[in-house]
Amino acid sequence: MVDTVQSVTGPLLPDQLGVTLPHEHVFINMTRTTPQDGYLNVWSDTEPELRRFTAAGGSTLIDMTNGELSDYAAPVGWSDDLRVMQQNPDTGSRSIANVLATKAMAEATGVQVILGTGHYYDTYLDKRWFDRNSTNKIAEYLVADLLDEIPGTGVRAGIIGEIASDLSHITAVEERSFRAAARAGRETGAMISTHAASFPTGLAQLEIMVEEGVDPARVVIGHSDTVKSVDYSLELLRRGAFVQFDCLMTCRIGGELIMHQIDRRLSYLKTMIDKGYQDQILLSQDVCQRSHLRALGGPGYTFLFEEFRTLAGQAGIEPELLDRIHTVNPRRAIFGE
Ligand SMILES: [Zn+2]
Repeated sequence: MVDTVQSVTGPLLPDQLGVTLPHEHVFINMTRTTPQDGYLNVWSDTEPELRRFTAAGGSTLIDMTNGELSDYAAPVGWSDDLRVMQQNPDTGSRSIANVLATKAMAEATGVQVILGTGHYYDTYLDKRWFDRNSTNKIAEYLVADLLDEIPGTGVRAGIIGEIASDLSHITAVEERSFRAAARAGRETGAMISTHAASFPTGLAQLEIMVEEGVDPARVVIGHSDTVKSVDYSLELLRRGAFVQFDCLMTCRIGGELIMHQIDRRLSYLKTMIDKGYQDQILLSQDVCQRSHLRALGGPGYTFLFEEFRTLAGQAGIEPELLDRIHTVNPRRAIFGE
């Protein structure tokens, strides 16, 4: 168990978390795979979206922008210094600009932002950097981000994530990233949160980390709702991990509710709840592209507290249970309670 978790504005006690979004992004650059839409770097777009979150009762957001996704992920004009704007070339840590801009945004809006540290999936990874650094060395850099500071920022990460694999299999370099994350998790007690999209690779991710000695209860398998099988999620739950349904950005596009996306998720959630796994479920929207902003018709940071809440109620998922999923479950995941 950990006593406090670090946010960009200081340590938080379990009681201070409140309503928490466990997988979102404030500033992010995923233009390598989504050149048109995958860039959140406009201060005046993001600030009102976060204010809307606090107005809806939200307190805390885990910002899963990892080292690779932080490259130039700061407001335009933040700095013209390459060393400030780019992912740290030595430690692989988040860019200084991304961390300081996120901190400034947290201060401006009052949202408590917890930062993740770690590495994204194969397409984004610098293979030469991974070749040059041993798995233990990579783990050491993650531990330093968590316990010392994200270099050059005076700010510490609070959790490990998002650690990613994005195919039907885990690639060699991704496996090293997962082993490093697992070792850093064991050393610090930090929660480990993953990206496992489309394919049921969350099971292989969990296997690697358990093999490294991580308690499955400290692992959150992210994007589990993208796998079109409830049996996959049930298996993860049986093995003791948290299952995170966080791709709710596919549920509201251009101002329209995408009912087949919503209905499938609600049906899976109902099954998981009926089988008694309500304490291991996490929900988030994963705002990571411009079209995900509320102002552009996406879910924003508030879909869960607005349309989704109503539709979940109609599907037999009570508001009291959703409140627990938004407050108690993130607290259990983050603190290992
Ligand atoms: Zn994400």
